[in-house]
Amino acid sequence: MTAIAIDGPAGAGKSTIARALAQKLGYLYLDTGALYRAIGLYCVERGVPTGDKAAVTAALDSIDVALRYVDGAQRVLLNGEDVSEAIRRPEISLAASAVSAMDTVRAFLLDLQRDMARTHDVVMDGRDIGTVVLPDARVKIFLTASLEERTRRRQAEYAAKGEERDFDELLREMDQRDRQDRTRAVAPLRRAEDAVELDSTSLSADEVLAAIESILKEKA
Ligand code: C5P
Repeated sequence: MTAIAIDGPAGAGKSTIARALAQKLGYLYLDTGALYRAIGLYCVERGVPTGDKAAVTAALDSIDVALRYVDGAQRVLLNGEDVSEAIRRPEISLAASAVSAMDTVRAFLLDLQRDMARTHDVVMDGRDIGTVVLPDARVKIFLTASLEERTRRRQAEYAAKGEERDFDELLREMDQRDRQDRTRAVAPLRRAEDAVELDSTSLSADEVLAAIESILKEKA
């Protein structure tokens, strides 16, 4: 099986690129952020405080997270319920980031991610795919862009769904989340030593894809 790991901060374009690349290669696309979001959603809906590790860890006993693919698109199931849309709510982003800093939560989701890569060719995106989840991935990409550009892209995504988000508020939220993700003790967001860093600030999605495809060719 072949795995391609794409890590980087929020809004760098990971999911757009990973999805397109998976489609081109005929691989499965796995968005690992959705798994942390499902746990964040559970906590928010059940009133489990996302800063309380003991409470979140205890809640894991009542949580089942699973993935399903419908026409090639990933769906996330939380205790059997399809929560693929609910996990995109703005307040779930920070909840996901808070619970993802806990080693118990990360351990809970590790096997699911590794099992998918054992049984499928995958393009997996997240924060620690190249460093922790799939250290032997064939190709590792660390995708970045300036905070302003990432905020613009995220704002446009919300707008496409008919949701207006204030630029400055969104920027602060993304900055806070990245800082949390970079500075946590377990599996922090960072470039794996053998990852290729791509700054997409002034690149189109097609240009980023072309760059990754040429990296893939070099490695082949
Ligand atoms: O990628 P996305 O923005 O959906 O991820 C939501 C949150 O989940 C991130 O801010 C991060 O805290 C966490 N995450 C993680 N490790 C991953 C993927 C996501 O810690 N591999």
